[in-house]
Amino acid sequence: MRIRRIELRNYRNYKEEQIDLSSGVNVFLGQNAQGKTNILEAVYYAALGRSHRTSVDAELVRWEAGEAKFSLDFLRFDAENQLEFLFFRDKRRQILRNGAAVRMKDLIGTMNVVLFSPEDLFLIKGAPAGRRRFLDMEISQADPAYFYDLAVYTRLLAQRNSLLKKIRDGEAEESELSLWDAQIIPRAVSVVKKRIEVVKKLDVLASKMQKNLSGGKETLSLRYELHGAREGDHMTNDLLSWYNEKLAESVRLDILRGVTRFGPHRDDLAFFVNEADLRSYGSQGQQRTGVLSLKLAELAFFREETGEYPILLLDDVMSELDRERREQLLSFIRGEKLQALVTATDEAYIPSGGFGQIFHVEHGTVTAE
Ligand code: ATP
Ligand code: MG
Repeated sequence: MRIRRIELRNYRNYKEEQIDLSSGVNVFLGQNAQGKTNILEAVYYAALGRSHRTSVDAELVRWEAGEAKFSLDFLRFDAENQLEFLFFRDKRRQILRNGAAVRMKDLIGTMNVVLFSPEDLFLIKGAPAGRRRFLDMEISQADPAYFYDLAVYTRLLAQRNSLLKKIRDGEAEESELSLWDAQIIPRAVSVVKKRIEVVKKLDVLASKMQKNLSGGKETLSLRYELHGAREGDHMTNDLLSWYNEKLAESVRLDILRGVTRFGPHRDDLAFFVNEADLRSYGSQGQQRTGVLSLKLAELAFFREETGEYPILLLDDVMSELDRERREQLLSFIRGEKLQALVTATDEAYIPSGGFGQIFHVEHGTVTAE
């Protein structure tokens, strides 16, 4: 997959800009607050139908303007494609694929990206929600049906929780719960089954990457953690009855608290290096290597699932990685002939000499070197 051209109009701090990308590495150099991340954000948006830093589309519209637009021309298996996004202040955004309007659920999977930014360095140590989001974004891009299941699950969960509160406050009957549970449990099962399947694949790929990065010294493994599962539970064989039992077991407490205690919205992803839990025992260096392995595994995963590498977006990570890891990352990109969009404030982090196309970003203008 390869982006040929990005056009921006009244988007963020850009008035009118066209960027013709090279098929390899594209470096966006510039001081802080000039518009580097804004470009990556547009690419991310095109793949996932949402920004990685805001859920308010109106923020994308340039302050002085009434509407914004950006479009991407890209090749997918050598076929020309175009995605176009229009944002308004007073109505919903529009998405066009090759000129025809598409809905969000049909957009997902059209273009694939892997974003690596400094926040990812906290993925392992941070809260479980970040790891769930990582899995959800990853799987949605490779499998649009997952995106749909997850959206339905999330809606049903909110409805179940509001019913729990009503039961607690005497405004609804407990017997109404079973109707919801009959719907929510099968959705939870399909979400979790898919997550377990993908984590197994990522586990194989990430452990290979970690072995390479650590010179054979470390093995990284990934495991999906079902919230509430006890050791020795063989629930993955029969998740349906396991969830039934869990929800029944927890019904008193759920009503009291007005929230659902078990389900994919509470699960986690665990990382182990040489069998030690990286979340609690990993050194900072091991965690960084772990995240890098995970990102490279993500790239490999997409290639296995879709037949093509996704677009790699590296926002500010060059300065966050030490020299050795930076070089490992760059040599992977080069070796695999990926298209990457890389931002940096300082050329020092970018190796000189034919590494790729350099763009200078200043006050919402982009100039090719
Ligand atoms: P850094 O190196 O600090 O990460 P950056 O070059 O990545 O900087 P961006 O986040 O891409 O910076 O751009 C931020 C700039 O865009 C800020 O100056 C911000 O004020 C401006 N900006 C953001 N949204 C809008 C908008 N809707 N209209 C106009 N300007 C905006
Ligand atoms: Mg930035």
